[in-house]
Amino acid sequence: MKNKLIIAGPCAVESENQIISCALELKKRNINSIRTSIWKPRTKPSFSGIGFSGIKWIAELTKLGFVAAIEALLPEHISQLAEVISKENGNLSNLIIWLGSRNQNHLIQQEIAKKIVSELPNDVKLVIKNQPWKEEEHWLGIIDHAMMSGLDKNRIVLCHRGFSPNGSLNPDKYRNLPDFDFAIKIKEKTGLKMLLDPSHIGGSVENVFKIVNNAAKYNFDGLMIEVHPNPNDAQTDKIQQLSLQELDRLLLNFE
Ligand code: PEP
Ligand code: MN
Repeated sequence: MKNKLIIAGPCAVESENQIISCALELKKRNINSIRTSIWKPRTKPSFSGIGFSGIKWIAELTKLGFVAAIEALLPEHISQLAEVISKENGNLSNLIIWLGSRNQNHLIQQEIAKKIVSELPNDVKLVIKNQPWKEEEHWLGIIDHAMMSGLDKNRIVLCHRGFSPNGSLNPDKYRNLPDFDFAIKIKEKTGLKMLLDPSHIGGSVENVFKIVNNAAKYNFDGLMIEVHPNPNDAQTDKIQQLSLQELDRLLLNFE
């Protein structure tokens, strides 16, 4: 994975100590872009992220020089990030925003893109994950919605996180089914960079290893991967988050 973008970190931010210590461990592995989800989409009501109160820790990470990658579920999340990170003297340029797979209201997508344009510095990028179902036009449409809201194409990155199995054959028991050829076709068609999220495809540590291996011969531009300092204590997606030792083993295969 040399020269590729790796965004790693917990599924969800849980405490100041968890996210800062995780980021410092990742830095030792030359990973500088950290997953910092404080708003979590959940299938069933349960822990849905630490929310607004976690923004100050994100500000702290940006001050330490980390790039904090965060899912915005609503346009006001961008305003809240801009306001609190500025107030805490953090670095707003050190943010990556992403649109999650399940956030498929195009009006909300447009409003989030508009807020990124109006309230964040122009070097902040938007990662667009594929929607849960496989449909090329829809994924391309999200890109169009972001661009018609004023976001330059060079600020958009894509991320493949698999498609809902929906009763398809799934012998590996993946959480979502990957289609590497499809993702690479979209990368080529759009000219945009394409990341791979093996965590939400795999659904288990074993599958994450398998997917990263299988994807090695495809031209992905990087990974968004879940890593937790103590996966057993995680409040979300326990079984798919890599420990730091597992991350070391995974990275070793790619040197
Ligand atoms: C996530 O990355 O935290 C997430 C919820 O994934 P997805 O949007 O791909 O389901
Ligand atoms: Mn997760």
